[in-house]
Amino acid sequence: MKAVSVAGKGKVQIEEIPKPGVRPGTLLIKVTYCSLCGSDIERVYGPHWDTGSPRLESIKGSILGHEWVGTVEEIGEGVEGWSVGDRTVDGRLFCGRCWYCVRGMPFMCMGGRVRGHPYDDVQSDTPPPPQRYGALTEYVVRPAAGRLKVPDHVSDEEAAMSEPLATGVTSVLNAEVRLADAAVIIGVGHIGLSVLAAAKAAGAAPLIAIDRIDARLEIARQMGANITLNADKTDVTKEVVAITEAGPDVIFLGVSSQAPGIVEQAFEMVRYHGRIMIVGNAAPATLQPGRWLTKEVRVEGTVHMGESMIPAMKLIENGQVNLKPMVTEVIPLEEAQRAFDSLHNGTNIAVVLKP
Ligand SMILES: [Zn+2]
Ligand SMILES: [Zn+2]
Repeated sequence: MKAVSVAGKGKVQIEEIPKPGVRPGTLLIKVTYCSLCGSDIERVYGPHWDTGSPRLESIKGSILGHEWVGTVEEIGEGVEGWSVGDRTVDGRLFCGRCWYCVRGMPFMCMGGRVRGHPYDDVQSDTPPPPQRYGALTEYVVRPAAGRLKVPDHVSDEEAAMSEPLATGVTSVLNAEVRLADAAVIIGVGHIGLSVLAAAKAAGAAPLIAIDRIDARLEIARQMGANITLNADKTDVTKEVVAITEAGPDVIFLGVSSQAPGIVEQAFEMVRYHGRIMIVGNAAPATLQPGRWLTKEVRVEGTVHMGESMIPAMKLIENGQVNLKPMVTEVIPLEEAQRAFDSLHNGTNIAVVLKP
């Protein structure tokens, strides 16, 4: 079967690999769609290629892809509650033994893993070898336990977006967004738009989207942003403070490491006692502790480790979010290079690959 692996800086390749066999306790799943994550793009184009970072040992040759939906084709021995033809999406793997798992917090598992994420975040001198279980391929084998089924009337395209939406849901829950909270999202790519959808469902108002690309702002508007601002055309801090009077209640940062100065900007923009949620891989920042102290701002990082997949799917199932405008192109798996390039250069916002 075909699979897409990381070949070099800015390069992916199509490989022929053996089709996996179903094992006891697992499901053989035919991948219908796999959406590309900002983290996939970062791994293929990121600065580690130029610095010779040890991360490369885990990235080169890996098969990416964790935002997927597929149909069960074979059922392993001992599996109950699943039928051929059922649909399913990404799920996390938990160790069941660590401090968090033992205390009933599997989503914080120290050994918790996502198939399709190279293990390059491990702090070790000897990076683990590339893992080749991502979903940018035709078939995957996954444990049946703890796996989420896709409800009948959720489309495959929307189901493929449930994983990024879960990130948005987690960040909105962690930010404790309340009805009519003024919320700003800086950076409305794939993840920023997922936050926007979740914040809209939570009743944030006004919902303000900021980006440098007008096409993204247009999609943000279609997905429910009340106000959109292009950071290249206007002084966004001044505008937002004028609109919200004191500054927004909460600011979400959906930006990448290529945009320096954004955390500092959010710090100036947010109201006293406001909240800043770092959702994207923001660039290093310098904060003034004195200002932090006097503004009493809460700054948090937020990432989902699976705990929001069920609420994300419920929001989709009940029509509380409209993710359709986000998927700007469906591309055959064979054209993976074009898909990666189009996200890297900003011509697409979210892409789903079809094996
Ligand atoms: Zn992702
Ligand atoms: Zn664990």
